[in-house]
Amino acid sequence: RYFSSEPSLQVDSTEENGFKGHGMLAPFTAGWQSTDLNPLVIERSEGSYVYDINGKKYIDALAGLWSTALGGNEPRLIKAATDQLNKLPFYHSFWNRTTKPSLDLANEILGMFTAREMGKVFFTNSGSEANDSQVKLVWYYNNALGRPNKKKFIARSKSYHGSTLISASLSGLPALHQKFDLPAPFVLHTDCPHYWRFHLPDEMEEEFATRLATNLENLILKEGPETIAAFIAEPVMGAGGVIPPPKTYFEKIQAVLKKYDILLIADEVITAFGRLGTMFGCDMYNIKPDLVSIAKALSSAYMPIGAILVSPEITDVIYSQSNKLGSFAHGFTYSGHPVSCAVAIESLKIYKERNITEHVQKIAPRFQEGIKAFSGNPIVGEIRGLGLILGTEFVDKKSPNDPFPAEWGVGSLFGAECEKRGMLIRVAGDNIMLSPPLIMTPDEVEEIITKYGDALKATEERIAELKSK
Ligand code: PMP
Repeated sequence: RYFSSEPSLQVDSTEENGFKGHGMLAPFTAGWQSTDLNPLVIERSEGSYVYDINGKKYIDALAGLWSTALGGNEPRLIKAATDQLNKLPFYHSFWNRTTKPSLDLANEILGMFTAREMGKVFFTNSGSEANDSQVKLVWYYNNALGRPNKKKFIARSKSYHGSTLISASLSGLPALHQKFDLPAPFVLHTDCPHYWRFHLPDEMEEEFATRLATNLENLILKEGPETIAAFIAEPVMGAGGVIPPPKTYFEKIQAVLKKYDILLIADEVITAFGRLGTMFGCDMYNIKPDLVSIAKALSSAYMPIGAILVSPEITDVIYSQSNKLGSFAHGFTYSGHPVSCAVAIESLKIYKERNITEHVQKIAPRFQEGIKAFSGNPIVGEIRGLGLILGTEFVDKKSPNDPFPAEWGVGSLFGAECEKRGMLIRVAGDNIMLSPPLIMTPDEVEEIITKYGDALKATEERIAELKSK
């Protein structure tokens, strides 16, 4: 699981479990990992913990994939799923047929999103499908308006929007493009809003934000505003390394988009439902999007489901032109799957009843301050985050311009040290990420901080050894 191109540093921290060389072509996994290493096989979960097939216990500091907000074995979600399975395991939502859970969930989501008024909800099975659907919806909308040339999308370097053809194209990560002949030509990428890494000497955070907005405007003018349909952004970048925006960034970006009649899509697949301490990332940064993508915590990942929220202006155009346009010929067999919707309805009920945003606000300060206390460590470049999301970037000499040799796989070494100590995190190059279940207790926060500190110390020692060779 932990990748280092230096064979002597390859880490197999899992005990023999009989699954080496298994039959699955595993997502986001190197071939040699699948054939040479034991996969970590997770068997069951309990609250903020998961257990592997050998019975070893791990604190799940990534909440699955930034997703199991309510942790493992929440009885109400299990009951919601089984009740719905018993009543109606499946019916679709095509041709004006549908099920009650999907109708109820759409209303529930519209009621919870308050950053601005939204019109309708379209259901998908995942975040990638949500972002793919965004592109088709925006194209359909511009065709309806008689603007067939307004079709390009602008996304940002280091963004993650999914891994289907179009959502991978929107993503700004080279690994998702190289070897896959992507991105698609209608996608343009603009600056990553990472102040620490990309600011100019003496440039203040707000000046950095101004420069990025100016660069965006210049890109729009170069391409021709009449060709640019939409801009997509995560409120806090996730898989690209947990990058919160610099001060005033979204205010300035939104002004540029408005000026050129360009739609704003907020990709809230990670940030929706409390992760930042607000119900949505749009609430945190005063973002007024035209379209929103959600998934993950929508069902606390108990069932696959994603959705897009569509502004009333866009739905009005689509509905008012429906005689001309015919059917909105887009959708999936499982759009609005009743079992997924039933679980999502229950998840949203729990977030409200347990006041999840308040709970996050209560435990986040210790989580943030406890981990950020390691910022002075010599192998740490930057620790960043807010609410219950945190990233750490490892560099040499405390400088963004001095990466460790890639073959050392420093992020991977850290990940393996965490795993040894019974903690699961996300590793991406020399960035590591934490995004634990939102239901964490203060004791579990302390456990993460302790394990992070111990793993950091062990990693620092490994690096000292590597340097002395
Ligand atoms: N958008 C963002 C911001 C994400 O973090 C992810 C998944 N990590 C996706 C989209 C894609 O979601 P999925 O894996 O459900 O397709």
